[in-house]
Amino acid sequence: MTDSETPPPFRILPRLTDLNRDFWTGGEHGELRFLRCQDCGTRIHPPVSVCHKDHSKNVKADAVSGRATVATYTVNHQMWMPGPEVPYVVAIVEIEEDPTIRLTTNIVGCAPEDVYIGMPVEVVFEKQPDGDDAIWLPLFQPAAEKA
Ligand SMILES: [Zn+2]
Repeated sequence: MTDSETPPPFRILPRLTDLNRDFWTGGEHGELRFLRCQDCGTRIHPPVSVCHKDHSKNVKADAVSGRATVATYTVNHQMWMPGPEVPYVVAIVEIEEDPTIRLTTNIVGCAPEDVYIGMPVEVVFEKQPDGDDAIWLPLFQPAAEKA
């Protein structure tokens, strides 16, 4: 990283495991990935090695569109710990392919007062160096208008 680049805000990073690696590093390829049961198609998040529907162990990560909907949100005005510049939006978003999969995330790319429940959003990744590794945090921004 050069001096001219703004470092990403400090965040507490998840520990990568074989199970969650696809989720946290899919952003390297611009993909939001979830484990998915290859037998019944159920998407599994948080990642576990067994399908909760049919107990199949045949689970593998695959990519979703990255589109989601804001289910609820709060605007954080207080700097509780080193982190993103305040104010920022902490939201729970529901994934388009499976609204039962909810991610706690930040809404970026718009003013906090422009965020609303039901807002269509799309994933954007924030790369965070993590030792020799890196993770790509899935954040969400207002979705581009559909043509
Ligand atoms: Zn299954």
